[in-house]
Amino acid sequence: MWHNRSIGELADSLGRGEISSVDLVRHFLARIEALNPALNAVITLTAGQALAEAAVADRRRAAGASGPLLGIPLIHKDIFCTDGVRTSCGSRMLDNFVAPYDATVVAKLRDAGAVMLGKANMDEFAMGSSNETSFYGPVRNPWDKDKVPGGSSGGSAAAVAARLAPFATGTDTGGSIRQPAALTGTTGIKPTYGRVSRHGMIAFASSLDQAGVFARSAADAAIVLQAIAGFDPKDSTSVDLPVPDYCATLQAPLRGLRIGLVKEFADGLEAGNAALLAAAVAVFRALGAETSEVSLPSLPLSVPTYYVVAPAECSSNLSRFDGVRFGHRCDAPKDLMDLYKRSRGEGFGAEVKRRIMTGTYVLSAGYFDAYYLKAQKARQLITDEFRAAFERVDVLLGPTTPTPAFPIGAKIDDPVTMYLNDIYTIGANLAGLPALSAPCGYVDGLPMGMQLIGPHFAETRLLNAAHQFQLATDWHNKAAPGYAE
Ligand code: GLN
Repeated sequence: MWHNRSIGELADSLGRGEISSVDLVRHFLARIEALNPALNAVITLTAGQALAEAAVADRRRAAGASGPLLGIPLIHKDIFCTDGVRTSCGSRMLDNFVAPYDATVVAKLRDAGAVMLGKANMDEFAMGSSNETSFYGPVRNPWDKDKVPGGSSGGSAAAVAARLAPFATGTDTGGSIRQPAALTGTTGIKPTYGRVSRHGMIAFASSLDQAGVFARSAADAAIVLQAIAGFDPKDSTSVDLPVPDYCATLQAPLRGLRIGLVKEFADGLEAGNAALLAAAVAVFRALGAETSEVSLPSLPLSVPTYYVVAPAECSSNLSRFDGVRFGHRCDAPKDLMDLYKRSRGEGFGAEVKRRIMTGTYVLSAGYFDAYYLKAQKARQLITDEFRAAFERVDVLLGPTTPTPAFPIGAKIDDPVTMYLNDIYTIGANLAGLPALSAPCGYVDGLPMGMQLIGPHFAETRLLNAAHQFQLATDWHNKAAPGYAE
């Protein structure tokens, strides 16, 4: 069963000639055709292009090339510009947008020889926690098709969980990689802000957005992160620091690793979630890690802070979609104002409009100090508290989400309840920290994730800790019922 193999195993099989990349791509395309209609995880299939690229990968291998991703299939979140392929960002606004260039993440994976199978469904402009705001309809969770897969990278998460591809890309502004990873039993990493280029990634909130990876294990995620990390002159916020070898340190023992257990995360944690976290702590202790309690008193401010900063930035970023420069244009406009109003009114969905209005409000002259400036101060407090915590501990451990996957329709009419899905994830975005979610058990028969947060540029440490945890546990190997066959 090729779809049950890790990226490392697939690369070995390709290297030994046990399968060609073309046949591997055919295998995954057949799975997408059979299984995706019930999931709606993939919204654009690029079968012809994928087979052609796989044939190139096979020729490169035959000519002596190698590489851990050469000939390995993947799915890109539809927020990444893909040259010649529709890039919708889950919105009617960009339903007919064919990108004229590749995002840096896309180009880097292409250069590594990875083969794009298609584009993944997502919440509109990455705003959401359930993948229900997509213009293309909700994604269903492979573990229970009446439940959401999380969001905004819900299509990427569901695709990896259903084994429609060995890995997928995602983006995380407030939790959109970690939360869906947790709800689908996959491993997801959001790197440090600036570690991966944002060039060609459609902007939501530029000071928070970061590209990352969904895979079935930390070891696989390390291989992919290696390919996409690094400085990019096309993104002025990407950081010019050498990229460490993420795979080389996976095996390092955890003896002496200082793990901080965040008091504010433990407060009010639901019993099932708390039990899973306690079990994860026991695994880490058995591996030689030391644990202590850490307090970040301002952390409870992260959700309100985020819901000022993120809408503010989105209201500015999304002003370019006006039916003239970018995006959907209404039919037969009467005049310029009518064109703007109807194009934006028709192109954007309800959640995006809500964010644009909130953002415009908090940035308005009369309210700027009261909301935006105050939020920036809270953001600094949160960042400072994380920095102080990392003087005492090496990583922080906590839950990824408050609950397992919830029913489709349960929260979509109540934005504030929906926003609270991200109470454990948003802090890392506000502080620009790397964070990873890995499967750690079940609540009500549905997968849950634990979250590891590290200091800036400590991706190596997070991947090492998660890999050691995955050597000692089996949660990450479990497939949603019916998807390993
Ligand atoms: N759920 C959060 C939001 O709706 C985070 C989204 C994201 O990380 N892209 O804004």
